[in-house]
Amino acid sequence: MPSATKPQIWFLTGSQHLYGPEALAQVAEQSRQVHQALSAVSGIEVEIVWKPVLTEATAIRTTMLDANATAACAGVIAWMHTFSPAKMWIGGLDALRKPLLHLHTQHNAALPWASIDMDFMNLNQAAHGDREFGYIQTRLGVARKTVAGHVSDPTVVARIDSWIRAALGRDRLDALRVARFGDNMRNVAVTEGDKVEAELRFGISVNTYSINDLVAVVDQIADSAIDALAAEYAEAYRLAPELAAGQERHESLRYAARVELGLRRFLADGGFGAFTTNFEDLGGLRQLPGIAVQRLMADGFGFGAEGDWKTAAMLAAMKAMGNGTGRGTSFMEDYTYHFAPGEPKILGAHMLEVCPSIAEAQPSCEIHPLGIGGREDPVRLVFDAAPGPAVVLGVLDLGDRFRLVANEIEVVGLDEPLPKLPVARAVWKPAPSLSTSAECWLMAGGPHHTVLTQAFGSETLRDFATMLRTELLVIDQHTTPVTFSDHLRWNEAYYRLA
Ligand code: MN
Repeated sequence: MPSATKPQIWFLTGSQHLYGPEALAQVAEQSRQVHQALSAVSGIEVEIVWKPVLTEATAIRTTMLDANATAACAGVIAWMHTFSPAKMWIGGLDALRKPLLHLHTQHNAALPWASIDMDFMNLNQAAHGDREFGYIQTRLGVARKTVAGHVSDPTVVARIDSWIRAALGRDRLDALRVARFGDNMRNVAVTEGDKVEAELRFGISVNTYSINDLVAVVDQIADSAIDALAAEYAEAYRLAPELAAGQERHESLRYAARVELGLRRFLADGGFGAFTTNFEDLGGLRQLPGIAVQRLMADGFGFGAEGDWKTAAMLAAMKAMGNGTGRGTSFMEDYTYHFAPGEPKILGAHMLEVCPSIAEAQPSCEIHPLGIGGREDPVRLVFDAAPGPAVVLGVLDLGDRFRLVANEIEVVGLDEPLPKLPVARAVWKPAPSLSTSAECWLMAGGPHHTVLTQAFGSETLRDFATMLRTELLVIDQHTTPVTFSDHLRWNEAYYRLA
């Protein structure tokens, strides 16, 4: 789902008129150089847009309002090159509705010991100008990320890139339309939630459609389009022989292709970026959508099974955050454990719907019976997830707020083949250990559905949560159940007071 225009991050520089036009010209020139350096090293497909140096309150507020009104602007980076008296920034910061990164840097990396004079000092005084800016942001309670260091430092760039990724995710959520085919799975608690609060907090609109509205579109798909997509499946995947053209189950493959084409048309016509299904409500669909959902996820759509619209929205956002890395992001579910022998691990999968973007090798396209749903055997892609570091994120509604829970994990290879498990799957070791991870996840009320990504780490999720002003609990190598349960108690108080 590439956007029509390249996303932008605006680069703002603060100063004032005290130093005269000559100094301001130098500020502008040095700001351009920092902007160019940042643009050159950022690893993300965004346009970092340089804006003229800001020296008074009206221009600052106008720039922030422009950022709000510019659809392509996903966030704002601000740096106080000199000293920019911060009462000038109150109106602008109060108006800003886009994510903010405070970059605390300076033009020169080295202090010019032999040549430094008071003119140089007055020109290069971000060390105290940015303290003034930090004060006013804190005074106003502005949610932001603060990054300090020279832009020649790869760590500084990586931290900025992490924030840009998060801003792309937040931008994806903004006005995201989520189509629910049917309601949530009956009696399930954790997939429920407050859709009104979600629209206010995350910007997503979540609405329900009859599955038979989709069936009507599916049934209209032309045979020629179905044949073309079935041929594409045969080309892209290792096709089970029984599904090939002329073989006994080829009609099942064609019906799966029909469902994919119908889903794509329905989502495109309605401008939807995410959707949910529910195996309890399949109406006139002959198969539970398997390969269709898998391929739509691979193209950037959010998805949640059993009506899980919260996870569907987070998947859409995290797809946008991982864009361009070449590494995958998928809907996932904690399924079953390997406690011993050897290292404890989690086997994650779903009935069908795991995104092939996380596949280690070319998936196979297969058809097998499914014990639930009461429909014909569904076609699905089967594969193992690629090994490597990853993070899983879950979202839940506590009644008075949303909570995000994340766990740093390591996807690993299988101990042994899984010849009788015909679904896509991932096996991982959670940090810091299976027992601590699971204990903390359960204490936090974390869901069984998650988004698994190999495209970025937990720092990006922290930046994302800050932008959404939403609680995030991260389980990582430093976590212990004792400190985590304290953290949960403190957060209960904090989020009721904040
Ligand atoms: Mn499920």
